[in-house]
Amino acid sequence: MVENFDVLIIGSGPAGFTAAIYASRASLTTLVLEGEQPGGQLTTTTEVENFPGFPEGIQGPQLMNNMREQAKRFGAQTKFEHVTKVDFSNTPFKVWVGDTLYESKSIIISTGARARYLGLPSEERLKGKGVSACATCDGFFFKDKEIIVVGGGDSAMEEANFLTRFASKVTLINRTENFRASPIMLERIKKNEKIILIANKQIAEVLGEEKVTGVRLKDSTSGEESELSADGMFLAIGHVPNTELFKEMLDRDKAGYLQTVPGTTKTQIEGVFAAGDVQDTVYRQGITAAGTGCMAALEAQKYLEHKEHEAR
Ligand code: NDP
Repeated sequence: MVENFDVLIIGSGPAGFTAAIYASRASLTTLVLEGEQPGGQLTTTTEVENFPGFPEGIQGPQLMNNMREQAKRFGAQTKFEHVTKVDFSNTPFKVWVGDTLYESKSIIISTGARARYLGLPSEERLKGKGVSACATCDGFFFKDKEIIVVGGGDSAMEEANFLTRFASKVTLINRTENFRASPIMLERIKKNEKIILIANKQIAEVLGEEKVTGVRLKDSTSGEESELSADGMFLAIGHVPNTELFKEMLDRDKAGYLQTVPGTTKTQIEGVFAAGDVQDTVYRQGITAAGTGCMAALEAQKYLEHKEHEAR
C-alpha cells in the first residue's frame, strides 16, 4: 500500500523541520524523510551560539532534536530514510526509498549543502578538533590563536577577515597564484595587518594528534614541502549542494543549487518547493534556512488550498 501525504519534506536540517512544524500545525499530513545526515549540517557543529532564543547557546544536535520533537508534537511523521528516486512529472508526486514508494500532493526539498573538504585522512581525523568549515560557527573558539584559512575565493576572503576578530594571526593559503576572489575583497585582505597571504601552496597534510598543531604545505609548482604551525584550519573552498537526485527534474544553477522564483521557495514545478541551503548561495545559516522552511510550508499550504478550491 502506498502512503499518501499532503506535504512530503526531503531533508531534515532547520529548513526541513521548520517546514514540518508549520505544515503539521496547519493540519496537513506531513512526512519528513530525514536522509543520510539526520538533522543536517548543524549536527556536525558543537555549540550553536547564534540561533536566537538560546542565550546560553545550544548544542547543534540538541537543537535539531528539539526541532524534530516540535514537528512530531503536531503530528509530523519522520523517518530516517534516504530518498533514492523522485518523479515530479505528475501529481501526486512520487518519492522512492529503495522499493518503497511515497506519494504526496506537494514536496518541499531541503536537502541542504555540504562544505567542500580537501579529502585528506588527517583532515577527516581532526574535524571538530581544529579543522572546521564554518568560521561563523567556530571562529569564537580561536581567541588569540593562529589560524589557517584555505581557499582563494570570496568566501575565503570573508572568512579570513571575520576570523581576525578572534585570531592573533590568520594565514590564507591559495593553491594557485591567481586568487578567484573579487579585487575589492582581495584589497581588503591585503590591508588587514593580521592576515598573511600565501599563494601557490597546497595542504599536503594536517598535523596534530588530539588537535591541530599545523599543516604540511606543498608548493604547487616545485612540489617542495614545508611546515607551518597553527591552532586551527578553516576550509573555504566552496560548498556542494545536495541536488544530484533532482537534476533531471529541476533547474539548477551552474554550481548545482536549485533555482527558485526570487523572493519565494517555488521551483519551476508547481507544488514543488525548495528551502534552506539547497537553494541559498549567499547566507547558509541555520536561521535563514529555518526562515525559508517556514516560507515553503506557507507556500505549500496556499498551493494545496488553491488546488482544493479548483477541484470543487
Ligand atoms: P569559489 O568557487 O568562488 O572559490 C573556491 C576557492 O576554493 C577557489 O579559490 C578554488 O581554487 C579553491 N578550491 C576549490 N577546491 C580546492 C581544493 N581542493 N584545494 C584547494 N583549493 C580549492 O567559492 P566561494 O565559496 O568562495 O564563493 C562561491 C560564490 O559565492 C562566488 O560566486 C562568490 O563570489 C560568492 N560569494 C560572495 C561573497 C560576497 O560578495 N560578499 C562572499 C562569499 C561568497 P581555484 O581558483 O584554484 O579553483
